[in-house]
Amino acid sequence: MPAKRKRPQKTGASTSANDEKVAEDPICKCNICFEEPFFLTVQCANGHLFCSKCYQQHRECRTTESWKSCPVCRVPLPPQPIRNLLAESILGSRPATCDYEDAGCTADITRGGKAEHVKRCEFGTTECPQQGCTWSGRVSALVEHTALCEFRSVPCTNRGCNESVPRGQLAEHISGECRFRLVELGILQLPQRANV
Ligand SMILES: [Zn+2]
Ligand SMILES: [Zn+2]
Ligand SMILES: [Zn+2]
Ligand SMILES: [Zn+2]
Ligand SMILES: [Zn+2]
Repeated sequence: MPAKRKRPQKTGASTSANDEKVAEDPICKCNICFEEPFFLTVQCANGHLFCSKCYQQHRECRTTESWKSCPVCRVPLPPQPIRNLLAESILGSRPATCDYEDAGCTADITRGGKAEHVKRCEFGTTECPQQGCTWSGRVSALVEHTALCEFRSVPCTNRGCNESVPRGQLAEHISGECRFRLVELGILQLPQRANV
């Protein structure tokens, strides 16, 4: 049974500080920020480890001559980083907290699976994909919203009409501009009216 992982600390930028176990027992340190990489770990040809982000930033920072070399041993750093899968498999299996923990997410996730989870977390927010709609809200509420979205294209219900119109304009279309509405009125309903 998984232990209850309610943390008093606020989830901030330095997520690694949140795991008590990590603070006691770092398996490796980045040679640029001197912290334990969160998950993605890369190395120089001699095995000096870095967070993947620190490595990228180091390679992009061209104000110093050393941008192309390992800050520890000066060996050239390839543009395509060498990953350290052993470190990643250990770090990646550590527990992590969702970015939407404050919104109520208690999902049991690992560092390695965090990015994927956060992308589709039901406590995350999203925007309506319909053009013109400004709705945004929980991912879990999108289905319900889509059913009601005034901007979602729906087919006209008049027989013979192949047009699709935004849901919010459907009533107006059906009784107004729809050509098939006019035809029905003219051919089918006018004679009936004449009989009344
Ligand atoms: Zn780092
Ligand atoms: Zn090195
Ligand atoms: Zn979540
Ligand atoms: Zn919408
Ligand atoms: Zn129509």
